[in-house]
Amino acid sequence: MPDTTQYEYGRLDRARRTWTDGTGHTTDLSLTWMDQLEQRWTWTGGVHPVNGPILRSSSRGGMREPLDLVLALWAPLVPVPATCAECDHPVPAGRAYCSALCRNAADDHGADGEPAGGDGNA
Ligand SMILES: [Zn+2]
Repeated sequence: MPDTTQYEYGRLDRARRTWTDGTGHTTDLSLTWMDQLEQRWTWTGGVHPVNGPILRSSSRGGMREPLDLVLALWAPLVPVPATCAECDHPVPAGRAYCSALCRNAADDHGADGEPAGGDGNA
């Protein structure tokens, strides 16, 4: 499977996580983007064959829209530091949680809060 896929109005490079539109402008899909209404958008990993990469908003109840529509309605997009899905602290690009603690906390939602794994009692 090639890393690069040509669509009607753009080109997706899955290895680099970039989208290059028909004008040659490249968008880094590994980043979180904020539009003029301060809605945050992240790439879902999906691509619409005509409208380009599908983005998901974390500010609108998980609304999904293609990149070209987001740009048409709410441009410009500016990159923002990604934030932890659990506590909203900044995280490196591509990471969902700031720490193992937050990842575990997310895993434990709905449980009684007891951490998974042994604590040394044998
Ligand atoms: Zn966190």
